[in-house]
Amino acid sequence: MNVQQALNKLKKEGFKFTGKRENLLHLFAEEKRYLSAKDVLTFMQKLYPGVSFDTVYRNLALFEEMGILEMTELEGEKRFRFSCSTTKHHHHLICLECGKTKQIHSCPMDWIEESVEGEFEVTGHKFEIYGYCTECQTLTVQN
Ligand SMILES: [Zn+2]
Ligand SMILES: [Zn+2]
Ligand SMILES: [Zn+2]
Repeated sequence: MNVQQALNKLKKEGFKFTGKRENLLHLFAEEKRYLSAKDVLTFMQKLYPGVSFDTVYRNLALFEEMGILEMTELEGEKRFRFSCSTTKHHHHLICLECGKTKQIHSCPMDWIEESVEGEFEVTGHKFEIYGYCTECQTLTVQN
C-alpha cells in the first residue's frame, strides 16, 4: 500500500479526502514501521495544533477497517502500519524498540494445520515474532 493507492481507495469508497488524512498517510509511508496512536498524535499536533486524539484515532480505525493500515497490539498498546503491498502470504518480525518490521515467508501453519486435521477446521491465524532489529541490538549493548 502506498499513499496514492490509499487515496484512491478513500475516493472510491466516498470518503472525504482532507489535508489531515493525506499528512497521516505520508507519515506512515515515511516511517515504514508500527506507530502507536500517541506517536501519530504527536506528529499531527506539530502540523495541526489542537487536533484531538479522538480525530486521529477515528482516522486510524477507519484506515484499518479499509485495509489501508494493519493493526497489532504490542505491550498493551495498539500500533498501526501501512499494509504490505504483497499479496503473498507472510508474517512479520517486529522490533519492540523501533517498531520496524521484516517479512518472513515461512508459515508455522503449514505443519500445524496438518497436525490438527480432522479435529479442527482452521479458518485463519495470526503469527508475529517479537525481538530487536540489528540497529536496536547495538543500542542495547551500548547502553
Ligand atoms: Zn506484511
Ligand atoms: Zn529496531
Ligand atoms: Zn501464516
